[in-house]
Amino acid sequence: MRPEILFPYYSPVTSLKGVGPKIAPSLSAHVGTHVRDLAFFLPSGIIKRPLVTLATARIGEVQTVEVTIGGYPSSAPKAPQRIEVFDDTGRMQLVYFHRIRSFEIQHPVGEKRLISGKIEKFGSYLQMTHPDYVVDVAQAGEIPACEPVYPATYDLSSRLIRKFAQTALATLLDLPEWQDKAILDKYIWPSFNAALKTIHAPQGEFDLSPDAPSRQRLAYDEALAHQLALKSRKQHRQSTSARVVDYRAWSDLALASLPFGLTGAQVRALEDVRGDLRSGHRMNRLIQGDVGAGKTLVALLAMIDLAEGGYQSVMMAPTEILARQHYEKCQSILQPLGITATIMTGRDKGKAREEKRAAVANGEVMIIFGTHAVFQDGVDFKSLQLAVIDEQHRFGVGQRQRLFSKGDAVHYLSMSATPIPRTLALTQYGEADLSILDEKPPGRQPIHTAVLPRQRLPDVIARLKAALASGSQAYWICPLVEDTAESDLIAVERRHRELQEAMGIEIGLVHGRMASEDKDAVIGRFAAGEIRILCATTVVEVGIDVPTASIIIIEQAERFGLAQLHQLRGRVGRGRDKSACILLYDTPLSKNAQARLELLRDTEDGFKIAEMDWKLRGEGDILGAKQSGFPDYRFVDPVAHTSLIAMAARDAVYILQHGDALPAPRRKAIEVLKQLFDWRPDLADKQD
Ligand code: ADP
Ligand code: MG
Repeated sequence: MRPEILFPYYSPVTSLKGVGPKIAPSLSAHVGTHVRDLAFFLPSGIIKRPLVTLATARIGEVQTVEVTIGGYPSSAPKAPQRIEVFDDTGRMQLVYFHRIRSFEIQHPVGEKRLISGKIEKFGSYLQMTHPDYVVDVAQAGEIPACEPVYPATYDLSSRLIRKFAQTALATLLDLPEWQDKAILDKYIWPSFNAALKTIHAPQGEFDLSPDAPSRQRLAYDEALAHQLALKSRKQHRQSTSARVVDYRAWSDLALASLPFGLTGAQVRALEDVRGDLRSGHRMNRLIQGDVGAGKTLVALLAMIDLAEGGYQSVMMAPTEILARQHYEKCQSILQPLGITATIMTGRDKGKAREEKRAAVANGEVMIIFGTHAVFQDGVDFKSLQLAVIDEQHRFGVGQRQRLFSKGDAVHYLSMSATPIPRTLALTQYGEADLSILDEKPPGRQPIHTAVLPRQRLPDVIARLKAALASGSQAYWICPLVEDTAESDLIAVERRHRELQEAMGIEIGLVHGRMASEDKDAVIGRFAAGEIRILCATTVVEVGIDVPTASIIIIEQAERFGLAQLHQLRGRVGRGRDKSACILLYDTPLSKNAQARLELLRDTEDGFKIAEMDWKLRGEGDILGAKQSGFPDYRFVDPVAHTSLIAMAARDAVYILQHGDALPAPRRKAIEVLKQLFDWRPDLADKQD
């Protein structure tokens, strides 16, 4: 139930004075449907209106001048209206495309006026088209010294948004304080409503910066509401009962058969998982670890525990190639234990598919590897108790949801090789528990990384020839930002031809436009060593494991994101050989791009790279933020407000645990906050 005090916040924008049916659709599309959305719509900057003389006016900028009305030259009735004005230093014309009849009466010749707007030059004339303000000198106060500017659209000007935002603010009731007074005092934060007002009436640039107290207050409120939503979902999950799974005899057998032992980090992660499985509550855990850290093995051991208990589990991968690789690698461990496994992909057809489905439905098969095909209707399990999802960000919430619905209180384990900054972990995965594999299996060789201009291509090819002669295999990666861009495709095919000519051997080619059967076939031959060089787009980015490949060359490396380059580089360094990664760039290279490539050259630590990548992108990179999986924040800047998010996360836990001890008014106010930001539950992994 929404508290009454919030009703004005959730009124439709059309309830505001001045918002008619004509403007409402664009306002809704651009800003939002509720009055609240207008109040939450941040200005993107400010306009100052410095007072200048006509001689010192800067062309193209918004300024204010004090002038005398000089005259109203006559013109044809349909022509624009022109008004002469002057000061001691020069002359200017005001232009109105449609005549304003009363203008001449209000502003007679000889009167002094303050006029504000963008000053332009038309031939040798100074000109101002449709001034923003024309006021009596005595009314100087009507021209704001500093005015917020809003992101506008063609039919929704910044001024109109500003007007609506002001109207909206005037309708909103002051909300009760949900914040601890000590915090308000400590950070000198204003009340919520005062902060909103300041955001819409900035006195200077600083008021809009992420460090301004008003902005901080609002960002904290937003983050707290979000964290409360995430954490209460977590609390809810942790109180949902699930099957107790507590077995390890078969896993111990599997471990004993391996030629290596687990790393300390793997042991810790596995124990985290086992703790969840025997807790009697549903698990939702994310295993984060750099490429090659051994996540799959941890997940497999958990799946073996389940099989021992007679429960089924599935491991999902985003691509067919990956699913197959998981299946094949894990088979060598599962078969000796007599655990039956299968793989389900979109390629299964007809009778074979029906047989597989039957085996899963009647429990003959205990472990299923697969792609999206596993989500489909018609796939039923006998006793699905664990879903492992590799690269979970590649799956939609709805898809995961469908998978969970195939069992009862299914435990959920996700794996991600994309190291993410702490802020993102707190926001995106705020609901999951986290295990981090921060240790690589021993014996891995460091990857030597070089950053070279494209002009060095001939040298690179010569070195590649020498390396091939001594038995190496190599990836040659061409950039392909859009997997469907024609021009990029041509580039890959051409490079493939050129390489084949230069090297005089068969070179494999894979790109996103190929059928997955064909892709698999080529990659299969590469893995078997039949093909020595694989020319590819980023389709090889995720997880492909060919331990004998020890060289990767990446063209136009500056076009890739750092995290992506790191993933690509992780394709080598998986075997015993010394590995190399060559990043080729096109000149000229921007300073920022150079810094990014050098960072990659100097470190192999995925977390460090992710953190730096994030910082190098800079604050206010909204698009980047969205792509990285941040929620749709209005006030929070994920880079600038890292520590605020962390603080909100701690406070949310405290409030959930000790909320009952808070004074009643504050408890009620916190409810208001939650409803005010209204984080929808589909934000996080919905499992209920
Ligand atoms: P990730 O999924 O984290 O990228 P994988 O689980 O695919 O990593 O492991 C990468 C490779 O390392 C695999 O070939 C795997 O068998 C091997 N591996 C896993 N754990 C260990 C370990 N503790 N010691 C040695 N090799 C390991
Ligand atoms: Mg993996």
